[in-house]
Amino acid sequence: MSAENMQYTCPFCDSQVIVGKPCPGCKKPTPKKRTKRSWEQSNAYDGLDLPDDDFDYDDFVAREFGQTPHRTIGIKWYWWVTAIAMLLAMALSLFVGG
Ligand SMILES: [Zn+2]
Repeated sequence: MSAENMQYTCPFCDSQVIVGKPCPGCKKPTPKKRTKRSWEQSNAYDGLDLPDDDFDYDDFVAREFGQTPHRTIGIKWYWWVTAIAMLLAMALSLFVGG
């Protein structure tokens, strides 16, 4: 995926703007809501605005999933130590008793 796909033409000054960033031509932040219904490009603009929301959501989900395996490994580590300790205790008692 190239960054060129994330650009659109500014409806105010017709310069190339990166999605989610202020327009370098007219210094206006990308408008979030449609105030003019006369634009025929409003539909395309609305579609371009969607990935911005998805990016935040993905980042949030990635963080959630990034922490889950860590917890699982911690639990496994704890139970492995417990099982090995119990086996060692049983083996020791057998050796001492025998
Ligand atoms: Zn502009």
